[in-house]
Amino acid sequence: MSRLLELEAVTAAYGPVQALFGVGLGVDEAEVVALMGRNGMGKTTTVRTICRMMPATGGRIVFAGVDLLRLPSHRAAQLGIGLVPEGRRTFAPLTVAENLAVAARPGAWDLGRVTALFPRLGERLGQTARTLSGGEQQMLAIARALMTNPRLLILDEATEGLAPSVRHEIWAAIRALKQQGLSILLIDKSLKEISAVADRAVILERGETVWSGAMADVTTQIADRHLGV
Ligand code: ATP
Repeated sequence: MSRLLELEAVTAAYGPVQALFGVGLGVDEAEVVALMGRNGMGKTTTVRTICRMMPATGGRIVFAGVDLLRLPSHRAAQLGIGLVPEGRRTFAPLTVAENLAVAARPGAWDLGRVTALFPRLGERLGQTARTLSGGEQQMLAIARALMTNPRLLILDEATEGLAPSVRHEIWAAIRALKQQGLSILLIDKSLKEISAVADRAVILERGETVWSGAMADVTTQIADRHLGV
């Protein structure tokens, strides 16, 4: 399997406050990697740094063989990383169909394929995003990212704050995406659901990678020590 994304000793700061002290992680083609750690350990900051929404102060980020930190950020955005950020961002005044259309880039993902993944969106194409339920908005946020035809999908807390039945639907979609061979970097609090889908895990503590390995090797002892579960 070939390596799609690789971070080596990445550091980053919010102004004078350093938040990442050495993050290393790798995602292979068609692999699902869970980025784990307690609150405030740097998961979202890592994702923002990968997506060039904030600058790295050191280290290396290589995506599809390209050194991301040497590219201007608008070029980096075109390389094929689809981010579903924390807090389900959609364009509230636009309809579902419009939200999807503005995200679309040529590739295998189109309206038919995203509505097959999320039939509920297909039933609500003319409805404005602001009138969708929280779960439907999250589906739309994922669908928008897919419409960009990413080589890597990053999901930051995609099931946060949703009712159990909707969570269930979203996890089913994530498993389907994995089966279709999409590479995914996943942040979520549910160890049970993550365990069912992730191939490997990377654990952060205070902005630093402290453990990485096969998901199956995340023992209760490791979870106890680093995740507080
Ligand atoms: P959570 O699960 O709570 O979202 P996280 O692991 O994603 O946590 P980050 O949000 O990446 O953690 O935060 C890492 C560190 O950076 C924390 O100490 C946090 O307080 C700090 N931080 C995050 N956002 C900002 C910001 N906009 N300005 C300053 N510091 C920030």
